[in-house]
Amino acid sequence: MYGLSDEDLEIQSRAAIFADELIPLEVDAELNGGDLPADIVAGHAKRARELGLCATNMPKEFGGAGRTTLQQVLVQEQVGRVTNALGWVAATPPSWLPAVATPDQIDRYVRPAIAGDREECYAITEEGAGSDVAAIVATARRDGGGYLLNGVKWHVTSFNTADFAFFQARLDGGPHDGEHAMFFVDLPSPGVSVLRIPAYSHTISHQHPIVAFTDVRVPAANLVGAEGDGMSFAYEWFRFERLMVAARCLGAAERLTAEMTTFATERRAAGRPISDFGLVGGMLADSLTELFAARSLVYETARNIDRGGDVKIAHAQCSMAKLYSSEMAGRVADRAVQVFGGRGYMRENVAERFYRELRVERIWEGTSEIQRAIIASQMVKRGPHALA
Ligand SMILES: Cc1cc2nc3c(=O)[nH]c(=O)nc-3n(C[C@H](O)[C@H](O)[C@H](O)COP(=O)(O)OP(=O)(O)OC[C@H]3O[C@@H](n4cnc5c(N)ncnc54)[C@H](O)[C@@H]3O)c2cc1C
Repeated sequence: MYGLSDEDLEIQSRAAIFADELIPLEVDAELNGGDLPADIVAGHAKRARELGLCATNMPKEFGGAGRTTLQQVLVQEQVGRVTNALGWVAATPPSWLPAVATPDQIDRYVRPAIAGDREECYAITEEGAGSDVAAIVATARRDGGGYLLNGVKWHVTSFNTADFAFFQARLDGGPHDGEHAMFFVDLPSPGVSVLRIPAYSHTISHQHPIVAFTDVRVPAANLVGAEGDGMSFAYEWFRFERLMVAARCLGAAERLTAEMTTFATERRAAGRPISDFGLVGGMLADSLTELFAARSLVYETARNIDRGGDVKIAHAQCSMAKLYSSEMAGRVADRAVQVFGGRGYMRENVAERFYRELRVERIWEGTSEIQRAIIASQMVKRGPHALA
């Protein structure tokens, strides 16, 4: 089905094996604040690497797996079957970076990130700038041979595990005054401090603190690309990450449909399996139908990218993939909780965990409203036929 090649099926099955190894550890993680013993997590990272599931998006010349977009989707789909972010060890460093990094940055950041020796986090969102990335007020001012960075960043995912951050700021002075620029900031660095670590709905080991950057000095060699480039990196990153969000949502919905079907077949009420009741069967049927539609959309979007399609169309299609898959997975999780009944409200149940965890898929990497705005804008500019 789906016209997958032997090579596609092979990487998909390796990722599925890995996901199946992680699933038995979910409840331990859930009941332990998202944490597993460090040696176990290190073992998972090693195993993901051995199976070729890391840096699937990065060029082979720098040590990446150089997989097609469709194959990247197939891997992340399997990762998405696992709750509590246990699959995040199958990491994908920023795919846009090799094209703009200097040779020095390739050596200091790109190769080590691909090898799993360094890990990044993204310090872009601010208290007053989320969907509207252009509204950021963090500043970068030229200072001698480098830059002085200032700003407070929100929701900095994985700050507790990362050893460098991408920091996006508005240039203060100079020929590109007011434009955006992005910088590598090594962690820890003088002037970088955590203001607060808020609790979030999901139970994962990765924190999302509010981080202050106060007079953080970085060398000019830490500028990513050129002054004024900051926004274009964000757009390219969004395209990739939105498709991967969609892929992980497919995996979540796949797991949930499988688990709720098994439960509905085994659970009996009034002397019959509950799947016999049309109202329960309807929830199963709607879930699988929507998953099939979402998967077809996501795979086709990936194939369009692999064919080298127009970047604006790819951008809108990635928005469609993320919008539909994240909302689909949310609906599937809601139905799964309902099918499991009281068990579906217990944290040891996969439906309960996904019900909380999937909510953010409609918020991060651009909210559903922003995806709709992107799709509508491209429909108006190019006509609906160009997009679908
Ligand atoms: C768990 C988590 C992890 C995150 N990780 C990171 C990270 O690592 N790095 C990082 O930089 N950021 C991160 N974020 C931030 C995330 O990208 C933003 O939360 C998201 O982009 C939305 O921005 P906001 O929260 O400011 O909401 P707002 O932009 O204030 O939006 C609030 C509401 O208004 C709507 N809205 C806003 N603008 C429009 C518009 N133009 N049209 C229609 N509706 C609109 C939104 O859809 C939403 O419903 C993370 C967020 C979460 C929750």
